[in-house]
Amino acid sequence: ETKKILNFGSGPAKLPKAVLIQAQKELLDYNGLGISVLEMSHRTTDFNQIITSAVSLIRELLNVPENYKVLFMQGGGTGQFSAVALNLIGLKEDRCADYIVTGTWSASAAKEAEKYGKVNVVNPKADRYTGIPDSSSWSLNPSASYVYFCCNETVHGVEFNFVPDTKGVILVSDMSSNFLSRPVDVSKFGLIFAGAQKNVGCAGVTIVIVREDLLGKALKECPTILDYNVQAKNNSLHNTPPTYSIYIVKLVLEWLKNNGGTDLMNQLNKQKSSMIYDIINNSNGFYSCPVNVSCRSHMNIPFRIGSLEGDEALERQFLEGASKLGMISLKGHRSVGGIRASLYNAVTVEETLALAAYMKEFLNKHQ
Ligand code: PMP
Repeated sequence: ETKKILNFGSGPAKLPKAVLIQAQKELLDYNGLGISVLEMSHRTTDFNQIITSAVSLIRELLNVPENYKVLFMQGGGTGQFSAVALNLIGLKEDRCADYIVTGTWSASAAKEAEKYGKVNVVNPKADRYTGIPDSSSWSLNPSASYVYFCCNETVHGVEFNFVPDTKGVILVSDMSSNFLSRPVDVSKFGLIFAGAQKNVGCAGVTIVIVREDLLGKALKECPTILDYNVQAKNNSLHNTPPTYSIYIVKLVLEWLKNNGGTDLMNQLNKQKSSMIYDIINNSNGFYSCPVNVSCRSHMNIPFRIGSLEGDEALERQFLEGASKLGMISLKGHRSVGGIRASLYNAVTVEETLALAAYMKEFLNKHQ
């Protein structure tokens, strides 16, 4: 029996055990074919079934309206920073786009888009990313081609619990770290994308949900493999796709469907994150989370120990103690330091309880 590990990593992250067991069972012989999905042509009927069911499961789990395409692309979330601008910034002649910047990932996306058009960051630059500036203060440009935001900033733990009102301008969202963690009204968006490696699979594939009328407007210099229209016309099979990653996504989606879908995940994710935030809030400042209460992430919880700036020796001790209990990948992102607990769909209530208990014990010992 392997040692019990509790993986709180931010991504690539924990996968449901049932998914790994299924993948292991099918590794050498998929569907009685005598070969692995790893060895299968992407042009076969069997692979076609895998990708088709992955698409239909996403449609079903998120109630994706008919007039949207679901695509599988390569290049990760970062590839989409470029793809979004290359495909959509030319929707209007001015080639302007609005970016709501609330953390590292939206800042990177804005920087990438500057290569292809004019970028307007709608909110003043923050010294530290600790919240979402009130929407009444955003300087939205009515003639922007689109408004972009990152629904959950993985590093800073800032999550939107509302859909920004863009006054009719196309809305684009990076949902890499909260995709399928809760229901979403897809009809409010022009485009949603998500790297799979946090909440829905392993690295190598990025899911894109795009409204059909936005296709076919890419800048002429857009690389073919980043062109949504090309991928949409070819069922995401313009070239060899990341076949195994798509297969793992399909298994995770089946698991999700069998485990209550986005409604139950939403409920569990709220319950899990509350357990950790409650301890932080009731620790008399021993633990501190810099993020405004109204936009604290249900997926990624960054916190410091000992003081607002963090007592690094104490934090090191916390991580060492956690690791002795099998709790891994709790170190904060290198850009912010401290601790970060990621509680994606695959992380159970029981595992979260164990982390909460350890935090309480550590608090009692050191406060
Ligand atoms: N967006 C978000 C919200 C992310 O968390 C990440 C990665 N951690 C990215 C984009 C970049 O994704 P990738 O590493 O797949 O390029």
